[in-house]
Amino acid sequence: MSKETTVQFKKMALIGIGLIGSSIARAARQKNLVSEIVCSARTHDTRRVALELGIVDHAYERAADAVAGADLIILCTPVGTYGALAKEIQPHLEQGALVTDVGSVKQMVVEAIEPFIPEGVDFVAGHPIAGTEKSGPAAGFAELFEKRWCILTPSKKSTEAGIEKLSDFWRGMGSSVENMDAKHHDLVLAITSHIPHLVAYNIVGTADDLQEVTQSEVIKYSAGGFRDFTRLAASDPTMWRDVFLNNKDAVLEMLGRFSEDLTALQRAIRWGDGDALFQMFSRTRAIRRQIIDAGQETAEADFGRTAHVEDQSD
Ligand code: NAP
Repeated sequence: MSKETTVQFKKMALIGIGLIGSSIARAARQKNLVSEIVCSARTHDTRRVALELGIVDHAYERAADAVAGADLIILCTPVGTYGALAKEIQPHLEQGALVTDVGSVKQMVVEAIEPFIPEGVDFVAGHPIAGTEKSGPAAGFAELFEKRWCILTPSKKSTEAGIEKLSDFWRGMGSSVENMDAKHHDLVLAITSHIPHLVAYNIVGTADDLQEVTQSEVIKYSAGGFRDFTRLAASDPTMWRDVFLNNKDAVLEMLGRFSEDLTALQRAIRWGDGDALFQMFSRTRAIRRQIIDAGQETAEADFGRTAHVEDQSD
C-alpha cells in the first residue's frame, strides 16, 4: 500500500513505545493511516528517543495525558501492566474512541481491560504475530507487520464497526487479519510461540550451567544448532515473564503434551528405536516445508537469517 492510503484515525495514542509501539508508529506514518501520533512512556530516555527518531508528535509521561482527544489507543506495554493502565486512562477516553492492544496473551488481557471500557468506547483486543528479540523504540521498523498475521479477539465490548476499523488499520500496515476466540488464541500461541521460547530459555540456561563443557566451547560451536535457540532466549525478560504468568493454563497444558512427547523420544533413543526417530523427524521436516510455502520463512541456507527475515518471531 502506498502513501495515498486514506487516513483512518485523527489521533493515535501509543501507550508504551518499545519495539512494537515504535514499529506501529513508523508503519502508520509511512502508510498515512493516522494524522497525529502521540505516545506515553514511563522513562525519560524512551520519550527522548521516540521524539528524536521523529516517530511521534508528542511524548507524555502519563498515559492519561496521551489518550486525551485520541480516537485510537493502543496499549503496547508488557501485558502485566494492562489492568492498571486501563484504569488510569478510563476517565480520559473520548466517546467513539477505539481501544486495542498488542499483547501476546489474550484471555487475561480482555479480562484486565474490559471492566474499564466506558459506554460509547469500543475495545477490540489484538495481537500482531510479528516481532524480534530486540526491545525499545530504536529497534522498531515500519516493515515489521508486512505479510504477517494480526489476530483480533473480539469480546463483549467490541462492536462490528470497531472490529472492521481495526482490521482495516492492520491491513493498512500490510498484515492479514483473522478473528479468533481469546481462549483459542492463547492455546495456539502457547504451542507456536510460548513453548518455543520456554524451551529456548531452558536450553540456553542448561548450557550456561554445564560444568564439563566450557562456556567458550558452547559459544565457539554454537552453529551446530544452539545459536538458533539463543535468538529466542535473548527476548525481553519482562515481556516473557508476563506472558508465562498470564497464559498459565494453556502453557501448562501444552507443556504436559511436550513433556510426554519428549519422554517418547527419550525412550526411542534408549531402546535404539531408529524407526520411531526417523518417522518423527520426517513428520517435523514436512512442517517446516509448509511454513516456507506459507511465506512465513525463507528456504535459504543458514536458516534464512538475513536482514529482517531473521527478526520474524513471536
Ligand atoms: P519493549 O520493546 O520492551 O517496550 C515496552 C514498552 O513498555 C516500553 O515503552 C516501556 O517503557 C514500557 N513499559 C515496560 N514496563 C512498563 C511498566 N511496568 N509500566 C509502564 N510501561 C512499561 O516491548 P515490546 O517488544 O514492544 O512488547 C510490547 C508488547 O507487545 C508486549 O505486551 C508483548 O507481549 C507484545 N508483543 C511483543 C512482540 C515481540 O516479539 N517483542 C510481538 C508481538 C507482541 P520504558 O522504555 O520507558 O521502560
